[in-house]
Amino acid sequence: MIDCQKCADQRDGGVALDLQKHRFQCEVRHVLMLRTISRARMDSYLELVLKRRGDAAMWKLKDVAKDQWGKGNRGEFGMWK
Ligand SMILES: [Zn+2]
Repeated sequence: MIDCQKCADQRDGGVALDLQKHRFQCEVRHVLMLRTISRARMDSYLELVLKRRGDAAMWKLKDVAKDQWGKGNRGEFGMWK
């Protein structure tokens, strides 16, 4: 679902803390990219996260994405503000 080679390469590897951090940042970028398409696209992804992983996971993602969006991050590859 999230198009990132680094995530794909390490999908079967260990769960190092930096990888978890990378995956989270990648997912935030994915949300930001969806937001550039439309708010509805972003909302439907967040809805999916809510259903699959619960309230806390969805709100963490949403809050950080909102913060990053406010700083000008539009989900470009590797972008973090
Ligand atoms: Zn990634």
